[in-house]
Amino acid sequence: MALEGDAVPHLKKALRIIQHRGQEAAGIAVYNGKTISYHRGMGLVHEVLAGRQYNSLVGNIGIGHVRYSTSGSSCAENCQPITVTTKEGDLALAHNGDIVNAASIRTKLQSEGWAFLTSTDSEIIVRIMATELSISPDPIRAIKTVMKTLEGAYSITMMLGGRIFGFRDPYGFRPLCLGKLPGGYVLASESSIFDVLRGEFIRDILPGEIVEITPTGVTSTRTPAAPHKAHCMFEWVYFARPDAVIDGREVYQVRTKIGNILAKEQPVKADVVVPVPDSGRAHALGYAEGSGIPYAEGFMKNRYIERTFILPDQSQRDEGVLLKLNPIRSTVAGKRVVIVDDSIVRGTTMLKIVQMTRRAGAKEVHVRIGCPPVIAPCFYGVDMKTREQFAALNRTPQQIAELITADSVGYISQAGLVEALGIPESELCLACVNGEYPTRIVGEKMRFQKTLEV
Ligand code: SF4
Repeated sequence: MALEGDAVPHLKKALRIIQHRGQEAAGIAVYNGKTISYHRGMGLVHEVLAGRQYNSLVGNIGIGHVRYSTSGSSCAENCQPITVTTKEGDLALAHNGDIVNAASIRTKLQSEGWAFLTSTDSEIIVRIMATELSISPDPIRAIKTVMKTLEGAYSITMMLGGRIFGFRDPYGFRPLCLGKLPGGYVLASESSIFDVLRGEFIRDILPGEIVEITPTGVTSTRTPAAPHKAHCMFEWVYFARPDAVIDGREVYQVRTKIGNILAKEQPVKADVVVPVPDSGRAHALGYAEGSGIPYAEGFMKNRYIERTFILPDQSQRDEGVLLKLNPIRSTVAGKRVVIVDDSIVRGTTMLKIVQMTRRAGAKEVHVRIGCPPVIAPCFYGVDMKTREQFAALNRTPQQIAELITADSVGYISQAGLVEALGIPESELCLACVNGEYPTRIVGEKMRFQKTLEV
């Protein structure tokens, strides 16, 4: 964020708006005219960004981060923005995504004498930047070198002294967009930030693009994009807020369309369609519209409990579901219920939801899912790392229904999902549902590849 006035309160607000993207840690770093100062820690935005140290921050240029740990453990050392001092001045960096070749880069850097303070892949980006800035003071040249070195998913904001940059990997896995606020410009993961801060959305940062923002303008540098884009379909299915517009598609509209198509592909005779709140709500509305079955709220959601899917361990997730959801008896008792949710990954959450729906008196419980079966790990920034955890691996929908004690389970097809997105299949990452990866990953099949590379 680069503003004419103080950026600190706007950064805090912006992070609260995207709190759903990461609930483990938060932080901001601002440039005060001479140096970069920062405040970061474990917890939610409103818990971390408070108190004396936060209140002492001043600066019109700054970056912020909310953390969802996919690479590196969930601990205080791994909070972002990462801050270091380079030959060209203080540097702060915030990263969304996962770097596929992080381990080999880290080993190489360690053999060159670098020591690491964190276990994140993001720190290697900072170390490469620092090395490049020691060779030449040009930050764009350094970013280009970083981009040539990294493989995988990254949408990054970076401050070097009083300059602020954003860059997006050549595939465009993770979102990054540009907006204008009164008195300046801002880069964000989701466009909802611009609405809430009374600004306006300008455009998405293109895959492979580097931008520099100032309070008065934006400059862009292009680097070669990948031969095919690979926007993460899971952003629309689950991750992003429904009011966000990502790469030209509003999340809410995509989700209702998914529900429409799901109703056609996976019909069932039922009395009521109920969503799993909140991320299944738009899918369920679309399913009700497409099927003609009445829609009703079937679960009370405790809004003070975090998003359970992105909690770092299974016991937290299990406990979170029970604390978070409780059935509304009058909606489900004595009825044939269709529960609609965005996705099933591990199946443990849905098992608990089906069980609580039956306990509340439902006659039948059918489950409909707005994402094809998840069968392969994500290496690009969503915490689905090991095949063993996937409920759908080597199971038919009938077997999954048995696993989660439902009367039936139906998933949208890959073709149906692509149709709902309205983006060509060749420009999407669908690796976790079809096992075809947009980048080279040893032991996995690359998209368009005929045989497995080992
Ligand atoms: S593997 Fe799945 S979750 Fe990961 S980037 Fe691709 S579509 Fe998204």
